[in-house]
Amino acid sequence: MKRGVPVSPGVAVARAYCVDQVLARREPNTLDIAALSGEISRFDTACAAAAGELDVIIGRVTQEVGKEQADIFQVHRLLLRDPALIGRVKAAILNRQVDAESALHELLDEYTAAFSKIDDEYLKERMADIRDVVGRLLGHLSLDQQQHILAASEAVIIVAPEVLPSQAMMFDRLQIAGILTETGGPTGHAAILSRSLGIPAVSGLRGILREVSTGDLIALDGREGHVYLRPSAEVETAYRKLQREYMHLRDRLIENRDQEPISADGVPVELLANVSGPADAAMAARVGAGGVGLYRTEYLFLTHPSVPTEEEQLEAYKAVIEASPNRRVTIRTLDLGGDKQLPYIGEHREANPFMGWRSIRLSLAHPELFQTQLRAIYRAARFGQVSLLLPMISTYEEVLKLKRVIERTQMALRREGVSMGQGVQLGVMIEVPAAALCIDAILDEVDFVSIGSNDLIQYIMAADRDNPKVAHLCEPFNPAILKLLNQIIKTCNQRGKPVTLCGEMAARPRLFLPLFGMGLRKLSMSPAFVPTIKEVLRQTTVDMAADIAERVLRMNSLGDVRGYLTRRIRQICPNVSMLDMRH
Ligand code: PEP
Ligand code: MG
Repeated sequence: MKRGVPVSPGVAVARAYCVDQVLARREPNTLDIAALSGEISRFDTACAAAAGELDVIIGRVTQEVGKEQADIFQVHRLLLRDPALIGRVKAAILNRQVDAESALHELLDEYTAAFSKIDDEYLKERMADIRDVVGRLLGHLSLDQQQHILAASEAVIIVAPEVLPSQAMMFDRLQIAGILTETGGPTGHAAILSRSLGIPAVSGLRGILREVSTGDLIALDGREGHVYLRPSAEVETAYRKLQREYMHLRDRLIENRDQEPISADGVPVELLANVSGPADAAMAARVGAGGVGLYRTEYLFLTHPSVPTEEEQLEAYKAVIEASPNRRVTIRTLDLGGDKQLPYIGEHREANPFMGWRSIRLSLAHPELFQTQLRAIYRAARFGQVSLLLPMISTYEEVLKLKRVIERTQMALRREGVSMGQGVQLGVMIEVPAAALCIDAILDEVDFVSIGSNDLIQYIMAADRDNPKVAHLCEPFNPAILKLLNQIIKTCNQRGKPVTLCGEMAARPRLFLPLFGMGLRKLSMSPAFVPTIKEVLRQTTVDMAADIAERVLRMNSLGDVRGYLTRRIRQICPNVSMLDMRH
């Protein structure tokens, strides 16, 4: 049995689908002479598919962002026509009788060795382009290969170095029972993606791609972080039983969708959903969420070959609004950077991407891009009750500057006679400690705030949310986190400004107890967890929760907080503990 970082609860037993990436090396695969011409045409097909994909990207990026930004893809397109590169791969297939993947790996090795001897920084960076093109080709070859091994409709466990949001497109072609990754922490975007889809997942499994092949059976428990490769018959039976119990509990809880979200003593709490698209929004409606508290628009951009136009964004936002419960949606503007990179925006070689040129900082630096999004949001607001949320605010001045951009955008829409929604509330994310410390001034300028605890925790603790080695520090049970959250919630309540918590901790039953006790009355989470938190809420009273909050705020160690909350949740709502991660 292997232990990883538990990132999304649930149990799965299914066969592996390995997403082998460029740098995940494997032994060369030799072929019979008779198979070589077939292999050459398989490679030609992958080249054609990659070229077609790049042509679409180049067209759109040129039109919507600019020629300069499209140049990087032009270079990749030219590489695909480069006889030296393509000819070398074909020669390797024919002369060494290997498959296209092995030939590409060999080529990459040769180029890496040659480039390592060069001192020129510019030329060294060209290696990144070659790696990108080889990666694109390997991606096409791998999809083609693995679909032969697995039955088309079979649910699989994805095994990957990491799961990037931009790979979500590929996932549309597969049915996913679970996800295992070599890197990534519990609040990284791969984890969020798996939780929002209700898929059990474990990360931090270094080297797993060397031990498992597509088609191998895997059993995983995303609550404990346990993984069995090729499990014995006993383990398989036990895990299948756990899987049934888990599904049964989730199905039973979902039956509370029509019950009021009120505490045992009648205090209402808004239980909202975090979504990335219309499918999640529909799920939010099915589980009985009161609305969408966070619509992460970056997935629209990340799964699109280039910047979506204003009309495309309008259609996408409208689709989410129409699918959302009560048509209530808080739309967050583009929050790129960190682990969410687009090839055509931002700086890709920053030393500290999470502290770098990201999120609202990028939006302020690309006014055309930002205003296009604002226009689409205000136009879409006609179709429901929409709020606008700005991510990653660090200073009061930023808020003032952003408000001026928003006013100018609204004025332009009015001048053009374009109809837009009325009463759009403006909110900011509190996820940088500086904004939390200066919240008083910020509250003067906005209608509401939303606490992004995923980022807030990583910045308070100085521990990367995606790095499994520091996952023990990125812990919401930490007294420092709870103290700061208490201050934010208290200030907002005193000022009469609505405050929502929309980080992953909103979906943790044990943490709900002190948060409710601190006075939090709005939480937004992956839709799959709404029934669970409603169940806890309906068993809790304000007095009980206030007492719990008071006690944990006096504790000095994470272990004490976690131990105490684990005992309390078992007393208050024993059946939900299976639906939370163990840690
Ligand atoms: C957060 O930081 O808590 C948050 C909700 O935003 P994201 O996870 O998208 O960064
Ligand atoms: Mg965030």
